Amino acid sequence: MADIETPADPAATGLMPIPGHIDPVPLPRAGLVHGVTPRADGRTDLIGLPRPRIAALFEEAGLDRKQARLRAKQVFHWLYHRGVTDFAEMTDIAKSMRPWLAERFVIGRPEIVEAQHSTDGTRKWLLRTADGHDFEMVFIPDADRGTLCVSSQVGCTLNCRFCHTGTMRLVRNLTAGEIVGQVMLARDSLNEWPNATSSRARPGSGSGSDEPGHASPQALVMAQPLPDQVRDDDDEDEGSYSSDGRLLTNIVMMGMGEPLYNFDNVRDALKLVMDGDGLALSKRRITLSTSGVVPKMAQCGEEIGVNLAVSLHAVTKDVRDEIVPINRKYGIEELLQACADYPGASNARRITFEYVMLKDKNDSDEDARELVRLIKHYKLPAKVNLIPFNPWPGAPYECSTPERVRRFSDIVFEAGISAPVRTPRGRDIDAACGQLKTAAEKKSRAELDRLYEEKQAALG
Ligand code: SAH
Ligand code: SF4
Repeated sequence: MADIETPADPAATGLMPIPGHIDPVPLPRAGLVHGVTPRADGRTDLIGLPRPRIAALFEEAGLDRKQARLRAKQVFHWLYHRGVTDFAEMTDIAKSMRPWLAERFVIGRPEIVEAQHSTDGTRKWLLRTADGHDFEMVFIPDADRGTLCVSSQVGCTLNCRFCHTGTMRLVRNLTAGEIVGQVMLARDSLNEWPNATSSRARPGSGSGSDEPGHASPQALVMAQPLPDQVRDDDDEDEGSYSSDGRLLTNIVMMGMGEPLYNFDNVRDALKLVMDGDGLALSKRRITLSTSGVVPKMAQCGEEIGVNLAVSLHAVTKDVRDEIVPINRKYGIEELLQACADYPGASNARRITFEYVMLKDKNDSDEDARELVRLIKHYKLPAKVNLIPFNPWPGAPYECSTPERVRRFSDIVFEAGISAPVRTPRGRDIDAACGQLKTAAEKKSRAELDRLYEEKQAALG
């Protein structure tokens, strides 16, 4: 397993240092060529590239423009509709052309380092990029949906105090190909391509629930229908392959990393997921979770248009500054105003506020009442997901008692706001982000504190 804890030497790896005086947005790696991770064999991985880019590459490789465009269209279909990983299977492309493609290009998938299957059906994969960085993906099946929790970065520049990924250094952004590649790998593993031999019928499949998934590996993914589910019937961009009989119906950007600090790649990947000629999953079935990167939120609504989840976790400045340190940069008021302005949010598409329950930290009756007040003050179409804290070695917090969580939920619920408590999933396989990868890499308190200080400095 690649050791992502090793401090990266920028000179040796081409990684750029995280700037301290501005947002800790990682800069593109010098090694990346047009957002594609270079491969040892010199071929280019087509996964993650939009059609025009594939056409341009075919043209650069020697096809004339018209041929290049036609081939790109055919190849795109094979990649995203049929899930093939071998040019030899592309039967509508001339036989003589297939080896020509295979010499120059590959249809990649992240490498599977480890796959785990929980007794409750939750699956977790430890994946590896072509250049040897490990990251995670989790699938959580439920009665009426199956949610894939996708990573956007290897590690995270932020350092939420209760989050295990926050204790890792950011190694790099995942490319669009590595992000959409997770979805494709999940379809491979679940045998869910249209030409798959056993298309599985799933109880409740095709029920049309467009409630975003509620899974978070970090939050010990818990997925269950909310009591007050709202159905959207005007699912105008629902693709033909989105749900019928499939296990994988929803995607949440809640794996490792802060998706809005890797905006372009996340957007490009999700466009392929939503493209009717691509994976054709409705934007209503996709939820992006942010810790509160306020300047990118409107752009997320405009350019991606997916459901928004916000990791609120606290209602006072002091507590949020401590547990979600990006709050020092973008405070609660600013964040909630950005939520109120989020393009596309409505009562039918509410914003999810994630709230991790930390004993004696953010779980009092007063906190619950303040949460209600804030949601009402900003007139937010909101629901609250109460997440029991999932402890990890060295974590400085404990989970609230079940009674406290219940009471907190009741207060919010009685104010007319949905506040389900997430049921932990995949306990037996540690389906919490960062845990599979680093189970053997325990850090001392002093190391954790040092890292925390470093990341605080980066936030300015
Ligand atoms: N960076 C983004 C998305 C990934 S984190 C964000 O912070 O929103 C996905 C969710 O898992 C967040 O709400 C995060 O706060 C939560 N989470 C992280 N670690 C957790 C833990 N140990 N227990 C419970 N929830 C956790
Ligand atoms: Fe990063 Fe999200 Fe974890 Fe915070 S909760 S450290 S933003 S992954």
